[in-house]
Amino acid sequence: MKNNLPVIVLRGLILLPSNELKLEFEDADSIKIVDIAELFHDGKILLVTNKDPYDVSTDVKNLPLVGTEAKIIHKMVLPNGKVRVIVRGIKRIQIKNYISLKADTTLEALITPVEDEVIDDLEEKAIIRKLLRELDFYINNVPNVGNSVLSKLVNVNNLSELVDLIVPTLPLTLDRVFDYLKEEKASERARMLLLDIYKEEELFNIERDLDFKVTKEFDKQQRDYLLREKLKMLKEELVEVTSKEDEIDELRYTLAKLDIDDDMRGKISKAINKYEALLSMAPEQSMERNYIDVLLSLPWNYTTKDNDNLKEVKESLDETHNGLDKVKERIIEYLAVKKNTDSLKSPIICLVGPPGVGKTSLAFSIAKAMRRNFVKISVGGLDDESEIVGHRKAYIGSKPGKIINGMIKAKSNNPLFLIDEIDKMTHNIHGDPVSALLSVLDPEQNKYFQDNYLDEEYDLSKVMFVATANDINSIPIPLLDRLEIIKLDGYTEYEKLDIVKTHIIPKLCKDMGIDNINIKEDAILNIIRLYTKEAGVRELERKISSIIRKVVTRLVSNEIKRLPIITSKNIETYLGLPIYEDTIIEEKIGIVNGLGYTPYGGNTIPIETNFYKGKGNLILTGSLGDVMKESAQIALSYIKSNYKEFNIKYDTLETNDIHIHALDGAIPKEGPSAGITLVTSIISSLTNTKVKSNIAMTGEVSLHGDILKIGGLKEKSLGALRNGVDTIIIPYDNLNEVEELPKEVKHRIKFIPVKNYMEVYKIIKEG
Ligand code: ADP
Repeated sequence: MKNNLPVIVLRGLILLPSNELKLEFEDADSIKIVDIAELFHDGKILLVTNKDPYDVSTDVKNLPLVGTEAKIIHKMVLPNGKVRVIVRGIKRIQIKNYISLKADTTLEALITPVEDEVIDDLEEKAIIRKLLRELDFYINNVPNVGNSVLSKLVNVNNLSELVDLIVPTLPLTLDRVFDYLKEEKASERARMLLLDIYKEEELFNIERDLDFKVTKEFDKQQRDYLLREKLKMLKEELVEVTSKEDEIDELRYTLAKLDIDDDMRGKISKAINKYEALLSMAPEQSMERNYIDVLLSLPWNYTTKDNDNLKEVKESLDETHNGLDKVKERIIEYLAVKKNTDSLKSPIICLVGPPGVGKTSLAFSIAKAMRRNFVKISVGGLDDESEIVGHRKAYIGSKPGKIINGMIKAKSNNPLFLIDEIDKMTHNIHGDPVSALLSVLDPEQNKYFQDNYLDEEYDLSKVMFVATANDINSIPIPLLDRLEIIKLDGYTEYEKLDIVKTHIIPKLCKDMGIDNINIKEDAILNIIRLYTKEAGVRELERKISSIIRKVVTRLVSNEIKRLPIITSKNIETYLGLPIYEDTIIEEKIGIVNGLGYTPYGGNTIPIETNFYKGKGNLILTGSLGDVMKESAQIALSYIKSNYKEFNIKYDTLETNDIHIHALDGAIPKEGPSAGITLVTSIISSLTNTKVKSNIAMTGEVSLHGDILKIGGLKEKSLGALRNGVDTIIIPYDNLNEVEELPKEVKHRIKFIPVKNYMEVYKIIKEG
């Protein structure tokens, strides 16, 4: 055996025999030593430890005279030139002296191996057992040593090897490990080891006691509180993490299923990533989530298939709506044109008429018949542009506008989209909703509709917009240009009767789960006349519904066994006393029935005149508009210039003030068509003659007494009929319209056409 070995100096590290160590060298000397070892020493080297890890000198005086003979069991030259070796300690070595080789700085040592102590077999076994038991106990009590150590040791039956293997697993100082290297006797090292194990255990126990005492002193309540809070936070964190993860998964899943183009998919995906990255407490969280929801729930590409069969559409409209033949015809024509021409160019239908005449329900029926989804928004009272086009996402609580919200509800990109009350928009400082709506309705622009919140273009070109309004005169002109107006008038009593019998009763009875109830015709007419006063049938439907509800309640509570028959005699038990009297207008001097037409239908407007001592002034009251006030001036001028014809003394006109009042004073009245009534009322008052209350009149009067054409004859005559009028004086120029009026109206009202006021005067004079 050679008595010299090349030396490698370890710093702050000791390799005991039986252990392995991985070393990496980059300096030329060390690499050379590895080479020497391999070339001349069968891969064996001597490892010695400089206990000062910072001492880089090669001064042999600092080196110990004990070391470990090790064998290089693996060597690898790394691409960066470093050499990595794995060495295994073989035995303890006594160093006689170090030899610095002159040519370079490498070191060799002259050595004598330490002989193994001879121990009695039994004794060795006993010590091994004791050691393993103590180690087991120690490992189980002290948490910082891993269990795996024991499994490595079970097959070791050499005491020296066992001790050398255990020592590095204990938290010992370098000096103490050096003691183990120095100690030649294995039995002595075993004793040292037992001692160290006991010491470590003891140390651990003391530490634990100390810990315990400290925690005991810690205010118990505070500790509990802290623990509880900690637990709560952990729980919340846990729930939040999992629920947010689930949520993100779900969002991604929904996105994957969505039929959209790649560009949009990318954008939504990005939004989801952004949301995922937000901390759970971040204030933008809900904002981002909302945004994603909007993007995910918008129908980007889903289009329903139209039913193009116009015959079926017509049948469906007939099924849901009585009469309205002209309206239905216009709708079918419109759909036919839309189908055959470039749909982009067709204007938008606007259904105009008083409330309750079936505008909304008709639009719904069109959608149903065409098999399009239906959605309705109302723009009545809307004065802010952002209601239509949304708020930018940056604001807290910002949301998309009514159009995008509507599309989300519609669930397809080609619904029938009803915009209600298009005549009731206003505008304020926040911009003009009318112009915003124009860009929605304009087929040139709506393919690229921009909502501020969405911040993406949305294609509205497949949507079929339908608008409704009560009053055509209030629709903003730019909008009117884009609309195809279809008028729906009020219904006559008999039309209403028909609607009740064929639609309202069957519909309501079906809804409430009973057979069709028998409400006699005279009872229905009574409801129409005495319990409602409207152009449409909305209130009427409510009354019928209230009757049916009462019947159902009585049936359910066993008060009655069968469906009762509702007649004009028992109607009061269901609806209480009549709300309106049968209108018999009292005949009084100076009172004459005019006819008015409001967006809510036609009505009689009694005009009342009185005079008293004064200076020929004209006093006007009753919420009259400017045009109507002028009509009153004209009326007076006309009378003054024809006073003789009317048997009035001029003096009366000069020495009295004349006061004209239009009844229902709070309701605004406007238009020139009251001219004829104003003249008649003044003459009635000044000449002390009554005008029959069954007569009503409508017509503009010129300064020469010519009677000029008026509008709204149908609504006016329906209103007149509701109020018990049977004769209407109308301008001759309106005569051709009478032919168009509902049969019932023509049947029950006598129309007297006049060209000049003198004809009217003749009629009233003759009574
Ligand atoms: P609008 O939109 O004009 O105010 P709606 O469409 O809401 O009126 O109609 C009110 C109610 O009257 C609805 O229940 C509707 O079905 C019914 N209705 C109106 N017109 C008719 C009609 N011609 N035939 C059958 N029902 C009608």
